[in-house]
Amino acid sequence: MAEQESLEFGKADFVLMDTVSMPEFMANLRLRFEKGRIYTFIGEVVVSVNPYKLLNIYGRDTIEQYKGRELYERPPHLFAIADAAYKAMKRRSKDTCIVISGESGAGKTEASKYIMQYIAAITNPSQRAEVERVKNMLLKSNCVLEAFGNAKTNRNDNSSRFGKYMDINFDFKGDPIGGHINNYLLEKSRVIVQQPGERSFHSFYQLLQGGSDQILRSLHLQKSLSSYSYIRVGAQLKSSINDAAEFKVVAEAMKVIGFKPEEIQTVYKILAAILHLGNLKFVVDGDTPLIDNGKVVSIIAELLSTKTDMVEKALLYRTVATGRDIIDKQHTEQEASYGRDAFAKAIYERLFCWIVTRINDIIEVKNYDTTVHGKNTVIGVLDIYGFEIFDNNSFEQFCINYCNEKLQQLFIQLVLKQEQEEYQREGIPWKHLCASDKILEFDRDFRIRHYAGDVVYSVVGFIDKNKDTLFQDFKRLMYNSSNPVLKNMWPEGKLSITEVTKRPLTAATLFKNSMIALVDNLASKEPYYVRCIKPNDKKSPQIFDDERCRHQVEYLGLLENVRVRRAGFAFRQTYEKFLHRYKMISEFTWPNHDLPSDKEAVKKLVEHCGFQDDVAYGKTKIFIRTPRTLFTLEELRAQML
Ligand code: ADP
Ligand code: MG
Repeated sequence: MAEQESLEFGKADFVLMDTVSMPEFMANLRLRFEKGRIYTFIGEVVVSVNPYKLLNIYGRDTIEQYKGRELYERPPHLFAIADAAYKAMKRRSKDTCIVISGESGAGKTEASKYIMQYIAAITNPSQRAEVERVKNMLLKSNCVLEAFGNAKTNRNDNSSRFGKYMDINFDFKGDPIGGHINNYLLEKSRVIVQQPGERSFHSFYQLLQGGSDQILRSLHLQKSLSSYSYIRVGAQLKSSINDAAEFKVVAEAMKVIGFKPEEIQTVYKILAAILHLGNLKFVVDGDTPLIDNGKVVSIIAELLSTKTDMVEKALLYRTVATGRDIIDKQHTEQEASYGRDAFAKAIYERLFCWIVTRINDIIEVKNYDTTVHGKNTVIGVLDIYGFEIFDNNSFEQFCINYCNEKLQQLFIQLVLKQEQEEYQREGIPWKHLCASDKILEFDRDFRIRHYAGDVVYSVVGFIDKNKDTLFQDFKRLMYNSSNPVLKNMWPEGKLSITEVTKRPLTAATLFKNSMIALVDNLASKEPYYVRCIKPNDKKSPQIFDDERCRHQVEYLGLLENVRVRRAGFAFRQTYEKFLHRYKMISEFTWPNHDLPSDKEAVKKLVEHCGFQDDVAYGKTKIFIRTPRTLFTLEELRAQML
């Protein structure tokens, strides 16, 4: 149990509820939110409610309070989890991971950043320069990834439109020596179209608002957002993000991380090329489409370091092999527009993946010799899109929700497994619990019953997004760019038309494979969980919307989590710690005991209080079945003080 603050703040751990019921759970969650206590434990899981306001609970003094302490000694906090993961890694050489889940806007990304800040703050006491450098890069990489992978949506002004798993590697001293980022399924359709009230990726607005006149001139761009058709929808939206200021922050971060000037230049050129592509119009002359604004084509060619006629050809024709012949087949207008948009999405996606690769090159562990330095251990932090139900759900939601299904399955499996293992380790008998099954239903639009609710998926555009066709001509165009940074992003453009035989894997297959690998990876580590809840849909710090919160509590399975945790024993603690806290209750243990072991002393104390029927004695820990017993112990203790 977390150190109990005054009960006016509610119960710090849901396992201490008098009855495990939804009304009691919600009442406690609400009370704590209203009192500014946004974190609550369920055993070792942290439940977090987005406060939508800055709280003064992440500073140096708070960090000091959590450093090296046991999970239950301090009030619930992200730092408690981060410290537990760090200790497991350092003391027991365990690879650990922190899985952060919750729907869009619930606070996952902020949580992941606080966790990283905590780890950065408590490591490298001797201030080794190399370790400081690595920490700085790990922290700085966030802002670059957010600029290119986040966007304003109706749910979140800074919504991550990609999934991120970041490993931090530690040396034998427990100091960070490097890291690695895996990114998952960027929502690239956002590059060409956004819902009303939403924007494209921050990077476009940052460049247009923050780029100097000289930079913009060199890219043939003007400051006005509404000049560019790909981003016109959200051009007038007010954002809580200062794009112009962020532009400088991101440029500086790229520099510090180690992007070369010509690489940063190329990044801007790609963004500009995409904006220009969006303005490219086709006109129909008879049956054949022509490009209406030829000037734009030459600008795009210049930005991508290729030739105007080659860009034009890739936009209007595709090369196909028919038997032994290779012919140029002219696009219809529809195909040409499709090709243009697919190209814009693809170069943005490549850019994003390339940025991740570059960051990985720079932060990866170098020169670590395990034979000299011992095992290099890892803490992974997973911040991945939460469950999404929109008015119109498409392929992206399908993948995102599939991912959440997998993670929820893993959660159930691991939480149960962890309990079971703990009982086995301590020699306490374990009763098996069954997790409930899921029902899937299929029909043109189809409906899937997810654990978090029913979702109807629209089939419009579904197959296209899954096939994710990009005409080979564009790949060759990019591979033949004279800009080496760009060329390197498109290695498969090397293949000539006759060599391209294999049908590429579909987007869903690629995503599924990456999810399987992710789940295997997480399952091999000791997991810690943060479950984020969004209190309302208005981004308000005042409103606790009961209906919305209850729904999230339901589908995150938090009540089941409490039940599992209490199924056997609500509370457990090492004999030593237990004595330290309660020894004043009994004359047999106060001020010191003369029994052969702490375990014997705890037994004596428990019998003296008459609780022997409510506890079990493990090898190193005492297990207490009902929270009531713990309250009574606390009361007895308070009377003695
Ligand atoms: P998610 O990643 O789950 O979609 P974010 O972490 O981006 O959500 O959070 C959305 C917004 O909510 C943030 O931009 C911030 O304004 C606010 N927020 C989230 N967590 C906190 C927190 N711990 N303290 C203050 N504000 C927060
Ligand atoms: Mg996020």
